This record gives sequence, C-alpha cells and structure tokens, in this order.
Amino acid sequence: MTFDYIIVGAGSAGCVLANRLSANPSLSVLLLEAGGPDTKMEIRIPAAYTKLHGSSVDWGFWTEPQAALNNRRMYQPRGKTLGGCSSTNAMAYVRGNRLDYDDWAALGNKGWSYQDVLPYFMRSEHNEQYAQLDPDYHGNTGPLNVTYATGFQTPLANAFVKSCIETGIPANPDYNGAQQAGTGLFQFTIKDGQRHSVASAFLKPVLNRPNLKVITHAHTTQILIEQDRATGVEFITGKNRTEQALARKEVILSAGAFHSPQLLMLSGIGPVDSLRAAGIAVKRELPGVGQNLQDHVFTGVSSLCSQRGHRPIFTLNRSTNLKG
Ligand SMILES: Cc1cc2nc3c(=O)[nH]c(=O)nc-3n(C[C@H](O)[C@H](O)[C@H](O)COP(=O)(O)OP(=O)(O)OC[C@H]3O[C@@H](n4cnc5c(N)ncnc54)[C@H](O)[C@@H]3O)c2cc1C
Repeated sequence: MTFDYIIVGAGSAGCVLANRLSANPSLSVLLLEAGGPDTKMEIRIPAAYTKLHGSSVDWGFWTEPQAALNNRRMYQPRGKTLGGCSSTNAMAYVRGNRLDYDDWAALGNKGWSYQDVLPYFMRSEHNEQYAQLDPDYHGNTGPLNVTYATGFQTPLANAFVKSCIETGIPANPDYNGAQQAGTGLFQFTIKDGQRHSVASAFLKPVLNRPNLKVITHAHTTQILIEQDRATGVEFITGKNRTEQALARKEVILSAGAFHSPQLLMLSGIGPVDSLRAAGIAVKRELPGVGQNLQDHVFTGVSSLCSQRGHRPIFTLNRSTNLKG
C-alpha cells in the first residue's frame, strides 16, 4: 500500500487533515485509527458524555503517582474511536486564550498569533448564534456546528451566571470573541441535539472520496525511517496482522498528546537516555519528545439540588473518585 500522505490517528487533528488533504483529488491519503468506528450510541447523546469514560472508546489511562497531588494517580480519559477525543469530550467550544497564541508567535512560531489563526477558526465553524451576534469573530459557513445547548437548559445555569455577575465578575456572553475572561454560558459543538464530533463534521462528509482510505482498528506501532526520512508506518490490524503502508510525501502524526510522542520514541526519535533505557535503537536524538506535557486541571463541584427534576450530575471529577 503506497499513499502520498499517511495520517496516524483519526482524532480532532487527523480528521481535519484527512478532509483538507484529500480535497486535492491528485493526492492519495491513508488515515489509520487504532479505535473502531464511532457507532456507540452514547457518543451521540451530549448528556451521556461521562458514560464514555472507561468504555470501549476510551484508552482509559492513569498517571503515575503525582507528588503534587498527594501521590494520587489521576484518571486520564482519551478517545479511542473515529473523532478521537472529539467523540468523547465535553463538547465545550473553547478556542483558547489569545495571549497563548501571541506568546507562541513571539517565541518565533510564525503564523500562530491569534490574528493569524482567527480566520481558520472562523472558516471551520458554523456558529448558530454568534455568526450574527459577533461576526468579527465567528463564521457560519464551516463544517463544525457550534451552538448554545438549546434543547434543555437548567434554570440553574442562568442563576449561576447571574450570581457570578453579582459578585463582580464581568458578563461575557461570547468568551470566544474579543475577550475570554468573564462569565457566560458554554458554546457547544452540538448539531440538532447531537454531538457534532470532528469525525461527523470533517470526515464523514468526505468518506466517499476515492483518494481517501480510512482503516479503523489499525494500531500504528512504528514509523518506518530510511536515511533520516519517514517513509511509512507499520501497524497491527484488528485481525492481529502486522502490515506496512508507505508514504510518498509525508507521515503525519496526529495520535494525540500521549501517543504521538510515544510513537516517535518507539521509532527511535526522542531523548537518548529514555530510548536506551527501553532498549530502543536511537534514530534521532530529540530531547523534547515526551517532555513538558501541560494538562489543564479540571475539578467539578457537585451539590444536591432541591429543585424538582434536577438531580446532581456526575462530573468528571466524581467519576475519577469513583474509580480511583
Ligand atoms: C474527557 C475529555 C473532555 C474534554 N472536553 C473538552 C471540551 O469540552 N472542549 C474542548 O475544547 N476540549 C476538550 N477536551 C480536549 C479535546 O477533546 C482534545 O484536546 C482534542 O480532541 C485532541 O485532539 P488530537 O487530534 O490532538 O487528539 P485525539 O482527538 O485524542 O486523537 C488522537 C487519535 O489517535 C488515535 N491513536 C492513538 N494512538 C494511535 C496509534 N498508535 N495508531 C493509530 N491511532 C492512534 C486515538 O485513538 C485517537 O482517535 C477534552 C478531552 C477529554 C479527554
């Protein structure tokens, strides 16, 4: 099997890349995903989000004991299906803070300032509310649907926002607009009441392109390297067979924050000491691989509610405690 591009991992990044690269009919693209198809019913139901944790579509990692967390091991969910974490995440549409992008640009990463990336955010979204309310920051022609949770909204949500404002936090209905700080309701990647994963938005509409091949249950185990150049990959199929695919142009790693560096290291690219300790032949010393992971800490606050029909929900934190 030879393709122009091989993309490893059909998560948020991989699905977009598969769409954009295969838009050129003269290029052939192979997309490999370790997980299976995203057919699990709970993926589609926004309120069933926490049911995906520890399920067949979750890698279900645990950290090493964390000294700063009283040596607890923390649960690390990661999506393992078409759409990757976008098929199992909380669906909040959050672009991130403008200052982070500007910082990356200031460090020398050309093209990464917020002004540089803003057109791509706008191009990729179909925002049901803010394309009209805040057109300098939002688009309505892209594949990814963004909306408030319009089907059901607990009155507690608005009461919470109101109480934030009363304590002096400024109201900010569009935290993806000019200013991120403030209080407001989440915008979600939901369409017609169902999760709109990156697979639904970017991959499924183009699956009929003859130049795009998607293989699920394909766990890539090795990047093939010849004379300092990635020439292809080795992967294990659902039938436990080892296969190879070759790339004329590029092998693209989009296997997520944990698996992309892992795959580089398995292929001999990384910090020499770590590779040698694991008995892996060094192909290229690259000390930063597998280092400097930045995670965002998430903690939920659950409380019993006296209002009829509003039961306490399981937060990510709660499910963590249950398992850990
Ligand atoms: C529980 C949870 C909730 C979250 N909530 C939000 C939220 O509300 N809003 C938000 O903006 N972000 C949220 N995120 C973060 C967001 O979903 C991720 O940052 C984003 O999806 C990561 O995209 P990615 O392409 O880097 O990786 P992923 O989407 O993780 O994709 C990686 C893909 O590669 C596959 N893969 C891995 N290794 C291999 C291999 N060796 N061979 C083949 N395939 C492989 C994986 O199975 C996966 O499908 C959440 C994340 C989690 C885990």
